[in-house]
Amino acid sequence: MQFFLQHSPLRDLYDKVVAGDRISDADALRLFESRDLNAVGAIAELARRRKVGNQASFIINRYINYSNYCILSCQFCSFARKKRDADGFELSIEQIVAKAREALGLGITELHIVGGLHPSLPFTYYTDMLKALRELDPRLQLKCFTAIEVLHLAWLAKKSVAETLQALKQAGLDSLTGGGAEIFRKEVRSAIARGKESAEEYLDVHRTWHRMGGRSTCTMLYGHVESLADRVDHLRYLRDLQDETHGFVGFVPLPYQPEDNDIPVEHPPTGADSLRTIAVSRIYLDNFDHITAYWVGMGLKLAQVALSYGADDLHGTILEEHIFHMAGATSPQQQTEAEMIKAIREAGRTPVQRNSFYEPIRTWDDGAPESGAKQDGRSRVLEENLATG
Ligand code: SF4
Repeated sequence: MQFFLQHSPLRDLYDKVVAGDRISDADALRLFESRDLNAVGAIAELARRRKVGNQASFIINRYINYSNYCILSCQFCSFARKKRDADGFELSIEQIVAKAREALGLGITELHIVGGLHPSLPFTYYTDMLKALRELDPRLQLKCFTAIEVLHLAWLAKKSVAETLQALKQAGLDSLTGGGAEIFRKEVRSAIARGKESAEEYLDVHRTWHRMGGRSTCTMLYGHVESLADRVDHLRYLRDLQDETHGFVGFVPLPYQPEDNDIPVEHPPTGADSLRTIAVSRIYLDNFDHITAYWVGMGLKLAQVALSYGADDLHGTILEEHIFHMAGATSPQQQTEAEMIKAIREAGRTPVQRNSFYEPIRTWDDGAPESGAKQDGRSRVLEENLATG
């Protein structure tokens, strides 16, 4: 045990984690309220190391937003546009495939695709998009749609959620994104995302997908109008569903970005708040293997520090991010593989390139990727590019 923990007021929580006991909601609130960030981080480190050892991962992926038109107007959202807006956009399937083809040449293994709730695109647009991408490269993992998009597509297709997910899966969907969870407590939800699905609906989409054998991630948007107790409440819903389905492969806390929306927040999340939120998530979500430090919202430097506060993943290279940047994120639009590896290695961890399910593709144990593993992560397009020089 680190010396400073021996006399810490959080010593009993450290002992709980050492014993493998689950912490309570009241314990989580104490951790959130603690002024001793390093003690919280040290406990999270114990929990992290037990799950993943010394490894920290990233994915080589590309974001694609097919459209920012949305029939809703969530107060916190800086991304959505109406048809009358000059900076609204929607991509044709051909444009999406062209972006995917270009990114495959850079070595991506995953496309992460979300958009607004488009007012008029038919259900076949979404299934045709998935089929076209699947045809482009069968090994490319398609991580698409938030829970509210799935509900919107079910409404469009006049199908149940299960039937909709089945149709999307048949078209090529590999996994669901975790976006749209925001904060589950009803009062907070109405203040920041009026008209959006309820907590129960969000969880039910993921539950249905998990029961079909699917996997997904989940999120929490923090640092706006919610209380610390609201964050614990949110984490409890996720821990409970994970106990039930074991279908979440990772948790991604998202720091709120306050620009160009209807929720002006004087003090958006500080670095200490982000580190503490990641640490408490790691300790409380004892049934999750992976906690991501989302560099788009935190910046890569703070995300790197978060690898010593319970996080074991830096998310992806992304290539083109809109949602956070339209809300004021000052991070770059993308990271290179080399930057991710450097950040992880300098944090004292072993870099691992992962796929959508957090399965390892390449590991850099001693400077070079492990021999023999690299082929697993290569897309057909990248191999063709390499073969033709
Ligand atoms: S958060 Fe999503 S559902 Fe809400 S307005 Fe923005 S794009 Fe639409």
